[in-house]
Amino acid sequence: MKKQGTDVSPGRISRRQFFDGLTTAIRGLFAFSLTYSSRLLARSVEQLPLGKLKTLIGHRVISRTDSNYEVIRQSSVWQMIKPDRFPALIVQAQSANDIIETIRYARASGKKISVRCGGHSYYSSFLQDDMVMLDLSYLQDISVDKETGTARVQPAARSVDFLKNIAEHGFSFPAAHCGNVPLGGFLLGGGLGWNGEAWGGMACFNIREVEVVTAAGELITADENRNADFYWAARGAGPDFFAVVTGFTLDLYKNPAVILTTTLVWEVGEAKTVAGWLDKKVRQMPDYVETLLILADNPEQQQPPGAGRICIVQASVFADTEEIARTALTPLAGDDIPGGCIDKSEFVPTPIADLYEWDDTAYPRLRWDVDALWSDDEPGELVGKLVEHVRAMPSGKSSILLLWKPYTRKLPDAAFSMIGSVYLACYAIWTSPDDDSRNNHWVRKTMQLLEPHTKGHYINESNYVDIPSRRVNSFSHVNHSKLKHLALKHDPDNLFHSYIE
Ligand SMILES: Cc1cc2nc3c(=O)[nH]c(=O)nc-3n(C[C@H](O)[C@H](O)[C@H](O)COP(=O)(O)OP(=O)(O)OC[C@H]3O[C@@H](n4cnc5c(N)ncnc54)[C@H](O)[C@@H]3O)c2cc1C
Repeated sequence: MKKQGTDVSPGRISRRQFFDGLTTAIRGLFAFSLTYSSRLLARSVEQLPLGKLKTLIGHRVISRTDSNYEVIRQSSVWQMIKPDRFPALIVQAQSANDIIETIRYARASGKKISVRCGGHSYYSSFLQDDMVMLDLSYLQDISVDKETGTARVQPAARSVDFLKNIAEHGFSFPAAHCGNVPLGGFLLGGGLGWNGEAWGGMACFNIREVEVVTAAGELITADENRNADFYWAARGAGPDFFAVVTGFTLDLYKNPAVILTTTLVWEVGEAKTVAGWLDKKVRQMPDYVETLLILADNPEQQQPPGAGRICIVQASVFADTEEIARTALTPLAGDDIPGGCIDKSEFVPTPIADLYEWDDTAYPRLRWDVDALWSDDEPGELVGKLVEHVRAMPSGKSSILLLWKPYTRKLPDAAFSMIGSVYLACYAIWTSPDDDSRNNHWVRKTMQLLEPHTKGHYINESNYVDIPSRRVNSFSHVNHSKLKHLALKHDPDNLFHSYIE
């Protein structure tokens, strides 16, 4: 199994200790003993010098003077823009105990901790000057409990590995659309996953329980009834979560027997009409249809520049029978499809195993700048403002995506609290550093054009690092205040890096 993140092969210690496939009773006892021992540790925050930390954790503690520091620092960032921010120390944790020791060290040496899971944050939020970067990429275990229909998963388990593993037991889950994205950051920020509208709205609403190490160095379990502040925040706080998640227990869904996809393509000039038509069609289709409109480039038509810009409609259904899936997609197969459709493929079966087949093409490991918004306005209006802007897109690898979420129910009470009937994300992807400013500008301009239609943002895909208001507007006003309050309550010394002001 290809591992994500740093270049060192993970070991396998402690997987059965407190996380994996123990029976509920043994797990309960064990969790108690770990919690108890971690309390003892927390109580005695004695000096833990670097030498001692290195003795305890070994070669997985990397200092700035170590020869492998720069390789590991750079490879911690998934994409090719590597910000000039330099942690004082990188600790590759393999267990909750490693995390607890790191907290003791950080407290004793007056350092803050930034948490890195799979390194997919578009803005490298985990890479912070002079902090201890706690790298969780070794924590990838997955175990399924068929009886309860749940899985226990460590945060760095990748979406592709998770879906494959649970499919073997007959289950599925709204994992990220890109297989390399691990569940940790994805779930903490909300999680727009496969078949999400049918499976909880956002993936985080399928978290039944979280295991976290707190700022006090305690390993605790949180759910609706126990340590409920942590449970509330773990569902949406994203980079402002005030503890370290070491494991999730997730509710699973029955693996669908069939996935059908319909794809329709127009020249981008038709995009406004298409978006208006699609908005009506979405309301004629059941809520389990995942409907996207993508403004992108047709690599086969490059001349004159901008000529090949296209508008793609893609609708997928996960269903128990082919008949159900076909019926759900039928509104897109009528005679009223807007004129000028240049390509059409209807009711195409997609084996579950192929969901991530296009990852290398769709998510190339190049330079990325991304921003996103929620809107309740007419999608046709939004798209109408983007047609010329898409023709002027500096990179043919970039795209703008709209995801319809018209049926999203009332959100459960959790940190995740900002949503709209349409999600729009702008992805600039390019190769050369010489093109950075043109592509950055293109993303900023996209967001400016859509400012009047913007209801709020999505913490996992909005630029909260350069634009602090993105963070605040990723939550409802009330929930943002609550998150601030909880962060102060549970991490009063501000041990964990966050963007909360
Ligand atoms: C190619 C690509 C495709 C993507 N596709 C999707 C998609 O389909 N749907 C979607 O919703 N999002 C998607 N995203 C966005 C993705 O969900 C976020 O970037 C997410 O934060 C990445 O998770 P990570 O574990 O790599 O987080 P990291 O980048 O490692 O960490 C980001 C921040 O999350 C916090 N964090 C992460 N793990 C923990 C933990 N265990 N405990 C405490 N804090 C933690 C830290 O504050 C950290 O700074 C995609 C991103 C990329 C690059």
